[in-house]
Amino acid sequence: MDDYESLLDRARAQVPDDAFRRSGERFQVPEVQLMVQGNRTIWQNFQEIITVLNRPGKEVMKFVAGQLATAGTFEGSTAVFQGKFTPDVVEEVLNRYINSYVKCPVCSRPDTSIVKEKQVYYLSCSACGAKTSIRPI
Ligand SMILES: [Zn+2]
Repeated sequence: MDDYESLLDRARAQVPDDAFRRSGERFQVPEVQLMVQGNRTIWQNFQEIITVLNRPGKEVMKFVAGQLATAGTFEGSTAVFQGKFTPDVVEEVLNRYINSYVKCPVCSRPDTSIVKEKQVYYLSCSACGAKTSIRPI
């Protein structure tokens, strides 16, 4: 009986961990797929990534282009940037975006949306309810 009880305790103690891991798994950002064509870099799976991030493409594009100090345009479901970039560089910029505009700074979960109130932008988290002011992109 004691064994059963301690087993149950252990199972209960593991619940938050499991819940967190499940949430983490849901948020799997695919690897950035780039193709350099002449003097342009085509981000082939841009659409797929912004769908996972649940953010408008225009916003992500603006951030990435700004960080790369270049111009970006949409071509179909791809994003095209002027200049040659490696996946490492783009992935680092994307991570910066995720850390600033997707992950909740309080609970680290990605269940957030950006809301604007009285000219101020907030990252609103549906997992823990935190509202964090952010800089507009
Ligand atoms: Zn949160």
